[in-house]
Amino acid sequence: MKRSRINVQRRGFLKAGSLAVASLAMGSRAGISLAQAKKPHLDESDPQAEKLGYKHDATKVDKKKSPTYKPGETCGNCQLFQGKPDKDEWAPCPIFPGKQVNVKGWCSSYTKKISS
Ligand code: SF4
Repeated sequence: MKRSRINVQRRGFLKAGSLAVASLAMGSRAGISLAQAKKPHLDESDPQAEKLGYKHDATKVDKKKSPTYKPGETCGNCQLFQGKPDKDEWAPCPIFPGKQVNVKGWCSSYTKKISS
């Protein structure tokens, strides 16, 4: 009796593990990480986004409101962008927890990426 209960639990564990592996494989084939799949895109009207002058398209940054902006600066070349700029259109940024920012975006917390 005890042995069959353990077998049932083991089967359930193996099934759950198989599903998790299959989900990861499908996500990676589609080029989407689980972290990216879960996080919604940052809304430009989000109070924190407005406060930091965030725009999905850096060329639309209000230069009067964000005088530190320089043409060519984008999330894709910011140190805080947590994606691969050549592959990810959207990726997380620690300035906006739980959200993704656009690779062509910009905010006033921009920090130039130091190339190695
Ligand atoms: S901190 Fe950098 S990556 Fe994050 S939104 Fe601002 S410019 Fe983009």
